[in-house]
Amino acid sequence: MIRINDPADCCGCTACASICNHDAITMEPDALGFLYPKVDESKCTDCGLCEKVCAFNDNYDKSLNLLKPDAYAARHKDMNEIMKSRSGAAFVAISDYILEQGGVVYGAGYKDHFRVAHKRATTKEERDEFRGSKYVQSDLTGVFRQVKQDLKNGLTVLFSGTPCQTSGLNSYVGKKLRENLVLIDIVCHGVPGPYIWRNYLAYLEKKQGDIITMVNFRDKERFGWKAHKETFTFEGGYKMNFTYVFYQHIMFRHSCGKCHFCNTTRPSDITIADFWGWEKTDPNFNQDDKGCSLVLVNTPKGREIFEAVKDKLNTIPAELDNCLQPNLQHPSVIHPKRMQFEKDYIKHGFKYVMFKYGDAGWRYKVRRFKQKVKSIIKWILWKR
Ligand SMILES: Cc1cc2nc3c(=O)[nH]c(=O)nc-3n(C[C@H](O)[C@H](O)[C@H](O)COP(=O)(O)OP(=O)(O)OC[C@H]3O[C@@H](n4cnc5c(N)ncnc54)[C@H](O)[C@@H]3O)c2cc1C
Ligand code: SF4
Ligand code: SF4
Ligand code: SF4
Repeated sequence: MIRINDPADCCGCTACASICNHDAITMEPDALGFLYPKVDESKCTDCGLCEKVCAFNDNYDKSLNLLKPDAYAARHKDMNEIMKSRSGAAFVAISDYILEQGGVVYGAGYKDHFRVAHKRATTKEERDEFRGSKYVQSDLTGVFRQVKQDLKNGLTVLFSGTPCQTSGLNSYVGKKLRENLVLIDIVCHGVPGPYIWRNYLAYLEKKQGDIITMVNFRDKERFGWKAHKETFTFEGGYKMNFTYVFYQHIMFRHSCGKCHFCNTTRPSDITIADFWGWEKTDPNFNQDDKGCSLVLVNTPKGREIFEAVKDKLNTIPAELDNCLQPNLQHPSVIHPKRMQFEKDYIKHGFKYVMFKYGDAGWRYKVRRFKQKVKSIIKWILWKR
């Protein structure tokens, strides 16, 4: 049976819980809300399936991969679509195609009050909720079994998620059902914990005395594609912007520092990402800073699908060497105070860590001041 001795060895994909025929595994949250499998030994028959299915390791299935992915810069031809998506709306072009063929699409949406969770869509309207990056780990509870059922019912399924999620799903579904499953992964630097996100929303609502009705993790309309600013819309109709503590790598899942998928041999048919460094491929492609997708086509099936949707996109072939952003080369370095952050959170709660490590309070202001002084000194030295 599955045993997690080091939390960095589990990405929370739910494959083990999904495969257990005895429902002996439940996914239980840790202090930050990251889910880990817990075995009820009274139900376990020691069949070993849960250990076998786990694909969070270097031996994940690469049997379908091309020798080297085809790389493209891509932007949707419709500017409205680009504005509603995180990057260049490659995901929308591909998922439109699957839905038009009568397939179903799975992606990260919201349940309850902006709790990030994977959902199933059969229409473009339902799919639209998946657009935009949600920088929180998405809950997959029950989703892998639902995907398998769809495949057994003869449906084409597109599943989009982090590479650790696509790797787990690929392993759980197995070779026989893989034919009608299309996997899209994102280049991923790591996921923050669901509880911090929940606390953050509650903190903002209390501060404003109002309810949040819409979240935009990156507001392209007001700040462009490059900027990292969230916009929250409140019930009163006004909007507020924050740059939140999530971007400091301090609350990532432990597994993100040991990620097996920060490379170009991807556990999916197609990979999508922000195309940082797009200028090297064509300096005019994203001049308006509205967003540019990097697309890596990883398998023959990925090629077939990308060819079918190319007429919806402006694309330019790119050299793989010009696309290698850090998380296509190595995992993120986890913040040295990650453990202290968790201890402080358990002992003192959200507000304390928000002020100590986040973007509020005097500590933040001192940090910002120090950073500014450093960059001014750098600039002066460079000028001399
Ligand atoms: C946690 C996270 C980390 C990322 N790290 C990087 C990075 O280091 N470098 C980089 O270039 N790009 C990164 N991205 C990907 C990038 O932000 C865009 O999601 C990607 O380029 C798709 O853009 P799009 O316009 O084609 O898709 P959109 O139309 O914006 O659709 C968003 C897609 O992302 C999926 N998605 C959104 N949130 C989550 C989530 N929490 N978990 C799983 N899937 C999700 C949706 O299911 C959908 O397929 C990250 C995204 C997330 C969610
Ligand atoms: S060993 Fe088999 S029965 Fe036991 S938890 Fe794993 S999958 Fe379930
Ligand atoms: S990585 Fe996935 S399959 Fe492996 S132990 Fe964690 S939840 Fe289970
Ligand atoms: S960095 Fe790796 S382990 Fe962490 S969420 Fe992304 S794919 Fe999963």
